[in-house]
Amino acid sequence: MKKVAVIGAGVVGLACASRLQMRGYEVTLVDPRDPGMYCSYGNAGCLSRASCVPLGLPGVLAKVPGWLADPMGPLAIPPRYALAIAPWLWRFWRNTSLGKVNAIADALHALLDPTVEKWRELAAWAGVPELIRQDGYAFVYENEAAYRGDALGRELRRARGVKIEVLEGGAVREFDPALSPAITHMVLMPEQGHVTNPLRLSQALAARLREGGARFVQQSAIGFEMRDGRVARVRTEGEAIETDAVVIAAGAHSKPIAAQLGADVPLETERGYHVMIEDPSIQPRIPVCSGEGKFFATPMEGGLRVAGTVELGGLLAQPNWRRADGLLHGTKRLLPGLTHGVVDRWMGHRPSLPDSKPVIGRAPAAPNSFLAFGHGHVGLTAAAPTAGIVAALVSGDEPPIDIAPFSAERF
Ligand SMILES: Cc1cc2nc3c(=O)[nH]c(=O)nc-3n(C[C@H](O)[C@H](O)[C@H](O)COP(=O)(O)OP(=O)(O)OC[C@H]3O[C@@H](n4cnc5c(N)ncnc54)[C@H](O)[C@@H]3O)c2cc1C
Repeated sequence: MKKVAVIGAGVVGLACASRLQMRGYEVTLVDPRDPGMYCSYGNAGCLSRASCVPLGLPGVLAKVPGWLADPMGPLAIPPRYALAIAPWLWRFWRNTSLGKVNAIADALHALLDPTVEKWRELAAWAGVPELIRQDGYAFVYENEAAYRGDALGRELRRARGVKIEVLEGGAVREFDPALSPAITHMVLMPEQGHVTNPLRLSQALAARLREGGARFVQQSAIGFEMRDGRVARVRTEGEAIETDAVVIAAGAHSKPIAAQLGADVPLETERGYHVMIEDPSIQPRIPVCSGEGKFFATPMEGGLRVAGTVELGGLLAQPNWRRADGLLHGTKRLLPGLTHGVVDRWMGHRPSLPDSKPVIGRAPAAPNSFLAFGHGHVGLTAAAPTAGIVAALVSGDEPPIDIAPFSAERF
């Protein structure tokens, strides 16, 4: 039986390992943390097959000063990190022309559209089919101007076949009486999915992998030993793992490891926050995203999770919990009747590339090494489709979609 080492046991690594084990590979996962405990722990749970719209749209720069001026706004750049992030922001800006945006949207749509179906297969395999829901989700706006400001996003989605219904005024409250009467527009996307407990999903995959004989090595991968131009062993702080192939899925920490296999990628982290609200007196009927605040409020097992915001602050800085508190404040605007119990706060590192696309494909320096990281805002959504692509590549099969747009060599 052929061996594959997967570096990183976040939701992307776990999904890849699962697909590989299904194909008969002997899988070893290498991660210093418990499965699913890093960025994959705290996301908003949305399976956003509609998320073909990149973050960088034409005119985005004009909005940045307003966002930065608001301490509770959707974007923050701590001054000490402003210089370090500047080259990434430059590349980000260079991807905001309409031509680039359409090409990115095509690539993301091909990757993300099958997410619900692919996650249903994996969740069933792991014995937790109940975690995958397809109730739709909605963007909600508190004023007409903000709604109009997102028109291009709706156009890009509609052009790719995403179903969208718009409710206005009283119709919003008829759909969901928990929502504030101040909401003027609701953009409903009924085909979207969500996961009611992202950590339980990761843990279920890990348990099923263990049952199937996968080994979990609780170490950091630090390098590779090569033989005849191929990766022969993955070096960790403790042991060297013999392998026939390697998959790098170490999320926001993938850059230095991938560089050892010839991939020089501008990977950064967009830090995000959540508040987990226990015993909420009311919940939205389906996950809702504030059009102004860019955060999602998702009903989950264990309470209401409100997650979002972007902080370009690097991997090392301490969390700024005021940003999480801002999420709670924003939620009370959307759900004015909300009272609750304990609120738990969390910060996580999205692995992000400046064109909003992940890196998926073979690493340049060794034909038996594969890359699967940089999924940014859609890593939960993209994990299941990415896993199908990676398993096909490792097996020498044709991947199910064109992966040229996700090449590490595009930068
Ligand atoms: C606030 C917030 C809300 C979000 N909401 C959504 C959402 O609704 N829908 C969605 O699709 N996505 C969402 N995301 C994004 C999603 O959570 C991430 O894209 C996804 O979790 C990334 O998964 P990953 O497996 O690549 O990374 P991670 O979960 O970060 O896992 C990487 C793993 O690699 C390990 N690692 C690091 N270095 C090494 C090393 N040297 N050796 C071995 N292992 C290593 C780490 O310990 C970690 O366990 C959200 C993110 C945030 C922050």
